[in-house]
Amino acid sequence: MSVPSVTTTPRLRLRVTAAAEASVRGGHPWVFGDSVREQNREGTLGELAVIYDRRDRFLAIGLYDPSSPLRVRVLHVGQPVALDATWWRERLAVALARRQGMFDAQTTGFRLVNGESDGWPGLVLDRYGSVGVLKLYTGAWLPRLPHLVPLIPASTGLEAVVLRLSRNIQAVARADFGLQDGQVISGSDVANPVEFLESGLRFEADVVRGQKTGFFLDQRENRRRVGDLAAGRRVLNAFSFSGGFSLYAARGRAISVTDLDISPHALAAARRNFALNHTTPSVARCQHETVQADAFDWLAAQRRPAYDLVVLDPPSLARREAEREGALRAYGRLARDGIRVLRQGGRLVAASCSAHVSAEEFFAAVRRAGRESGRRFSEMATTRHPPDHPATFPEAQYLKAIFLVFEP
Ligand code: SAH
Repeated sequence: MSVPSVTTTPRLRLRVTAAAEASVRGGHPWVFGDSVREQNREGTLGELAVIYDRRDRFLAIGLYDPSSPLRVRVLHVGQPVALDATWWRERLAVALARRQGMFDAQTTGFRLVNGESDGWPGLVLDRYGSVGVLKLYTGAWLPRLPHLVPLIPASTGLEAVVLRLSRNIQAVARADFGLQDGQVISGSDVANPVEFLESGLRFEADVVRGQKTGFFLDQRENRRRVGDLAAGRRVLNAFSFSGGFSLYAARGRAISVTDLDISPHALAAARRNFALNHTTPSVARCQHETVQADAFDWLAAQRRPAYDLVVLDPPSLARREAEREGALRAYGRLARDGIRVLRQGGRLVAASCSAHVSAEEFFAAVRRAGRESGRRFSEMATTRHPPDHPATFPEAQYLKAIFLVFEP
């Protein structure tokens, strides 16, 4: 009688450079391909890779991606653990517990899981009311979805989950996993756009096709500040997207709000968001207009100081390190042109979401534009990440904003 032979693939094991070892030990979640010194075999997309240290002891375990320069995304460092169903459930529970009590019933849209900084490298989970949006930035999660997705409704109460995929993984998702960007992967069908509340304001998010997961949830705290500054002011919201800052300004009794964006879809969404809030008297009273234009050109062409509050929130201007210098110059020019359209006593709110530009150099560029305007101003505040978007390592820190007040 022949005994069936069982072939088991050995665990994927890696050894990395001393520098990478120190960085992982220090909590950095990325191991780059060029710091892998040795591995026992080729690895496949999304399998678990164990990193051993110089003395051959377990150092860390993470998700392997053979085609990305970011070869391993670390899930756990320290003592060996089994990443079983309980471990994953617990990991999700920790991220959810972190948000406990952060928001009241007036805010039903917020981030539940913020990638690496919540222990879920390359994965984001946002909530819009009862709809979740799971966004993947690495294909390494694709083979794990059948096990992970069922955990989501069970732990969060979400009734449906939409899958969003970063552009670079859409082809592999379709070809090897039969998954499409925007498809519902859990629960009932989703009526898109999805309505939710932020600080009591009603917004819609296009969770199927919109940028990021459909809304820029990361600007909530800055929007609240803008709402507090807006009374009696004429507001320009440059790079407005769907009018997030504008609705807060309108509710905060701004006289008028101008949404400026290059995208007609964004401006149409902004008009719908205003309509959703027309029962709020101050929103109904506020004059709302939309301007579709390149904000850099439009601002540079303005001749009159016509606004009392200007918000500048451009998309990332430095997608790679090589674009850092150019981005800083562009932030400086934007701030200069934003200040030029400010009337006496106006306020400037300038934000940056470029991870390659540090908060300090961004603030310095805006302050310089302030000084070079020859007008007297003071600095009201600088802000960083909101609490539902924690950033635990330098590359994760992309968001910063500065608030300047010009003297009458
Ligand atoms: N402040 C927004 C988010 C801005 S996202 C919020 O609170 O929701 C960046 C926006 O800039 C997008 O809507 C995009 O369409 C727009 N955009 C990109 N390039 C632009 C340009 N050159 N001129 C005007 N808008 C631009």
